[in-house]
Order: sequence, then C-alpha cells, then structure tokens
Amino acid sequence: MTSFDLQRLKLRSGEEHREEVELELQPLEFGGQRYLPVPETVPAELVVNRATTGTALRLRFRVRLHGPCYRCLGDAVVDLPIDVREYQATNPDSDELRTPYLDDDRLDLSAWARDSVVLALPEQILCRADCAGLCPVCGRNLNEEPHEHEREGGDPRWAALESLKDAL
Ligand SMILES: [Zn+2]
Ligand SMILES: [Zn+2]
Repeated sequence: MTSFDLQRLKLRSGEEHREEVELELQPLEFGGQRYLPVPETVPAELVVNRATTGTALRLRFRVRLHGPCYRCLGDAVVDLPIDVREYQATNPDSDELRTPYLDDDRLDLSAWARDSVVLALPEQILCRADCAGLCPVCGRNLNEEPHEHEREGGDPRWAALESLKDAL
C-alpha cells in the first residue's frame, strides 16, 4: 500500500509540489476475472496545489494489466495511461468537495490508483480487437482453429471426422 503524507509538505496557499512516487498497484477483479499489474510498482507523478479554498491533487502513471481475454480466455494485456484529479476543500460542507482518499493528511494513493484503473478499463478486455473467441458449439479457440459447424443435428459423419482430426 502506498500512501502519501501531505502534512510534511507544509504547503502554503498558492504553492505547488511535484513529486515522483513509487506507486504500488493491486490486482483487480473485473468481469469475474483477475488482472495483475505488471510491474506491480510503477513510477507516478503526484502534483499537489494548495489554495486558500482547498487542495487540488493530480496523479499520473501508466499501468499494464495481464489477465484473461474476455472472449477466448487467452492472455490479454491492457496498457492504460492514467491521469486523475481529486479536490479537497479546506472546509468541506458537502461530499463533492472532499476526496475519499484523504484521511487527515494521509493520501491513500493505492486506493486512488485502483479506482482510477477500474474506471479507465475498456468495456471488454481482449487479447486483440478482432478476437474470434471460443466456438459456442465445441468450445475450441476460433483464433487458433477457425471452423464452422454444420447446423445442429448435422451430419454425424462430420462429427466422426472431427474427432478423427483431433486424434491425429
Ligand atoms: Zn481473445
Ligand atoms: Zn466448434
């Protein structure tokens, strides 16, 4: 878990602080599958801007996730550039003016990073954009073995031929 102590910056209004931090990323659950960040620790840039009304925070990093393809369950890799902002009002009177990642002056960078990555994920994680997926009939990988089946209840001789081919 990576966290960052804003207190130690002792920023005054109008001041900005930039720092490169080592950000520890966590595995993600997405669509019932598990995705691992590789590498687990990435360099991230944190920018803190203090104003009289509040503190603006910006976090930038790149993440690479490895996990199963949504269609064929083969290996898929996603690269995501992340650039997110949060704001904490000095005297927040509504939830919109406070960031959930700040507790006292401790900024939970790992939780912020995890949520940002989840929001940046594509709708489906694929091994490639045109992944053909698994055959709905026999379950074989259509990328490796493109094939079609006779319509249901088709010629049993074909099935025999298919199983012969598998045996070779
Ligand atoms: Zn695939
Ligand atoms: Zn098939």
